[in-house]
Amino acid sequence: MEKVRLGRTNIVVNKNGFGALPVQRVSKEDAKVILRKAYENGIQFFDSARAYSDSEEKIGLALSDVRENIFIATKTMATTVEDFWQDLEMSLKMLKTDYIDIYQFHNPSFCPKPNDGTGLYEAMEEAKRQGKIRFIGLTNHGWKVAKEAIESGLYDTLQFPFSYLASDAEEELVRLCQEHDVGFICMKALSGGLITRSDIAYAYLNQFPHALPIWGIQKESELDEFLSYQECPPALTKEIQAIIEHDRQELSGQFCRGCGYCMPCPQGIVINQCARMSLMLRRAPASGWLSEKWQAEMKKIESCIHCHQCVSRCPYGLNTPELLLKNYEDYQTFLK
Ligand code: SF4
Ligand code: SF4
Repeated sequence: MEKVRLGRTNIVVNKNGFGALPVQRVSKEDAKVILRKAYENGIQFFDSARAYSDSEEKIGLALSDVRENIFIATKTMATTVEDFWQDLEMSLKMLKTDYIDIYQFHNPSFCPKPNDGTGLYEAMEEAKRQGKIRFIGLTNHGWKVAKEAIESGLYDTLQFPFSYLASDAEEELVRLCQEHDVGFICMKALSGGLITRSDIAYAYLNQFPHALPIWGIQKESELDEFLSYQECPPALTKEIQAIIEHDRQELSGQFCRGCGYCMPCPQGIVINQCARMSLMLRRAPASGWLSEKWQAEMKKIESCIHCHQCVSRCPYGLNTPELLLKNYEDYQTFLK
């Protein structure tokens, strides 16, 4: 079982981390089975967020009796000190614990620092003094904020999307984390569903011994896949490298990662699926995407009022209305 050291935290865990966003979508009973099975098979790192509805509660229900054997990371989207404390107290209550190993600012639009006038970083320090958190982390989808956080020396960990579709600039962030001894927690290693072979994703990330992927797990079959790699880690063979190269060429440039940060749309357009429909139709089984439900969702693109709210929120700088239109045209051709 390969291990990862999370930078200056000195937390050393199994290379498989558990991303607990998707357990929101399953029942409490099913979540308990999956989380417990993960723990019993050596997974030690669980990442959640106050914003993931009942994900923290499910971790608390499944794992509070083995709290000292696991590491919990969670997040707050608070923009005021008052909300910070409310979130932290609620997370502790839901997780049934009196401390969080890594408490992270959840995708802030700026890098919180001492004396920046918000009081947020000072609140983190106070929470640490009180023993309610052990380490301070930051998650982001934006390269600039992420780089600033690494170089500031204020953060013990960075959580950032990273997969074999990453750009050179994104790879540079991973190297920077290593240089600054900042733990690198890697989200979206399957690029929001665009990467359909988890063995390839795993083999790629194995090249970065200091990167900890947190796989978004919702089904036992998905968990089993990742557990199987613990015994037999997939190698980066020539065949796998050729597939990576092919995917990079096919997906290079401006594509929607499905993160959803551009939403909500005032017209109710499900941007994070509709703006990448062409890719989903070709990279995953197409039938589900051609249902009446999805035809109706795609039709909503016609109602776009070009307010550009989505453009201003997209961390990848995409021209979302244009991308939606292209995907809609392709979808209609595909349907015919
Ligand atoms: S358009 Fe941008 S923000 Fe919206 S889902 Fe796609 S990548 Fe994310
Ligand atoms: S530009 Fe169109 S898709 Fe984007 S938020 Fe406005 S209405 Fe929605």
